[in-house]
Amino acid sequence: MARTKQFKAESKKLLDMMINSIYTHKEIFLRELISNASDAMDKLYFLSLTDDNVKLNREDFRIKIALDKANRTITITDNGIGMSGEELETNLGTIAKSGSFSFKQENEKQDDIDIIGQFGVGFYSAFMVSKKVVAESLKYGESAAYRWESEGAEGYRIEECDKTDVGTKITLYIKDNTEEENFDEYLEQYTIQRIIKKYSDFIRYPIVMDWASSRKVEGEENKWEDFVEERTVNSMVPLWKKDKKDISKEDYNNFYSDNFHDYSEPLKEIHYKVEGSATYNALLYIPKKAPFDYYGKDFEKGLQLYSSGVLIMDKCADLVPDYFGFVKGLVDSEDLSLNISRELLQHDRQLKIIATNIEKKIKNELTKLMKDDREGYEEFFKAFGLGLKFGIYHTFGANRDVLEDLLLFTSSNDKKLVSLNEYVDRCSEAQQSIYYACGETADKIDMLPQTELAKEKGLEILYMTEPVDEFVTQILGEYKGKKFVNISGEDFDLSTEDEKAALNTLNEENKDMFAAMKETLGEKVAAVRFTHKLRKHPVCLVSEGDISIEMQKILNSMPNSEGVKAQLALEVNKDHPIAEKLKELYANDKDTLAKYTEILYAQARLIEGLPVENPTELTDLICDIMVK
Ligand code: ADP
Repeated sequence: MARTKQFKAESKKLLDMMINSIYTHKEIFLRELISNASDAMDKLYFLSLTDDNVKLNREDFRIKIALDKANRTITITDNGIGMSGEELETNLGTIAKSGSFSFKQENEKQDDIDIIGQFGVGFYSAFMVSKKVVAESLKYGESAAYRWESEGAEGYRIEECDKTDVGTKITLYIKDNTEEENFDEYLEQYTIQRIIKKYSDFIRYPIVMDWASSRKVEGEENKWEDFVEERTVNSMVPLWKKDKKDISKEDYNNFYSDNFHDYSEPLKEIHYKVEGSATYNALLYIPKKAPFDYYGKDFEKGLQLYSSGVLIMDKCADLVPDYFGFVKGLVDSEDLSLNISRELLQHDRQLKIIATNIEKKIKNELTKLMKDDREGYEEFFKAFGLGLKFGIYHTFGANRDVLEDLLLFTSSNDKKLVSLNEYVDRCSEAQQSIYYACGETADKIDMLPQTELAKEKGLEILYMTEPVDEFVTQILGEYKGKKFVNISGEDFDLSTEDEKAALNTLNEENKDMFAAMKETLGEKVAAVRFTHKLRKHPVCLVSEGDISIEMQKILNSMPNSEGVKAQLALEVNKDHPIAEKLKELYANDKDTLAKYTEILYAQARLIEGLPVENPTELTDLICDIMVK
């Protein structure tokens, strides 16, 4: 028997990591071994193109997987190029041969999981499920075959063996079950089939299994017999590599539901290929509905990442920005190495180029959808629009160029959704602003006194009914040179200079009365004054400064809010009969003026959807006046 050799120090560390790895990612061992087999067959196939001695044709190459429950083994056999004794020694005795795996000594447990789960580390991953691994190989063109054998940490042995077919046969002796882990499942044909489908469906060569099943014996009732047939498990040609004209809508949809856990049809698929500074195929989908947890903090965005048809990462978050986190699908690039670690990948230039590319593509496709299929786009926006708005908000507008054109708001014209671009396009040239109003619902906004005036003037208002909306308008500030103006803010004033001057004079004349009213209300308001902005309604509250009434409501509903207050002014309709009444009371009955002031302030709060601060006091006041 050959002498047992020790693994090199680095290899041993990695091996320990494999042996003790956590359970969830163990299944990727099969992906790694199948990819190795496929690579080995590629090598022999390429050789066959120039070397007539290779008698194999393209279709002769295959990977065979066999399960043996009695002996607890899985064997993976390929007819690829094989390894010489020396190659077995260097390839399997030393890790980091492929060079792309940077092993960090101080790796924390968390990192281990990432590396193993997301990328795998080649051949050694076999030790996650095996107590012993045997590799027998005959290299093409050589006469002697070799057998490599290891039980893990102890080291490995290499000796000659009598394999006669060119290629490699790997035998895994599956670990015994432990209390926490069930290794038996890797000996089940259905498990193995599932793992192959999941990770290696698009390997270019057939992966075959001896499939055990039973069938009815012909002519005999209730008699079944067991039989075994060879089955090819993988579908080989990736859908995304097929020609678009050969793919039906149904193919796309089936692929979507098979792979992305969504049983409703996607809204749209985006299938394209890029060649240039980054070469890749992408098949992306825009779902119809948001997953239930889309707006939760546990939602994980990401696209599947393939390297030449082999899945290397199930959810590569770096490929899509958060605000396009709804996009599902995959990217397949030849430029990425299979065994790249997560950290390296994050800094990968190729990946960055691809991600930038994808973002542009999604934006273009959404813009097209908005133009060509308005109904579809609105459906999309209802599901994911909030995320786009948060995209603007969370990045303080850094991505406005990507996102602002994609926003929709309800218009006061027809209660339909309108984009900012459409709004600007259809408003008069003289109009310098984009008018909006905030409230819980469009109906409530319609009840605001300011809305009345704006509508009377024929202005189109955007209804902002989502808490984040107003923050978005503040961050954007303007769109195509038109400023966002809240019709409940002090900036909203459509009067002429003459009208403004007249109002100023009127307010000046009555400033003592307003000072008295302001004194009654104390800190609750910053000022009391007349306005010419109201029509039917007697009063309104106007916010002064950056915090509007709606924002105040939102900020105060957040946990740990510190009682944010909008600066409010109480405005009285100068043309309402109440105006004259106030003047009269100021001249003759200041006590009653104080009561009226309290009541008017409370009314204004009610109209704005704010709570009345002291309801019992208010009802007493009203009753006092009623009985007079
Ligand atoms: P990687 O595949 O990243 O190089 P592995 O640890 O999986 O790392 O494999 C190390 C090397 O062993 C491979 O690069 C390849 O040269 C060789 N090898 C592994 N499996 C096979 C196989 N089935 N046939 C031929 N060579 C193989």
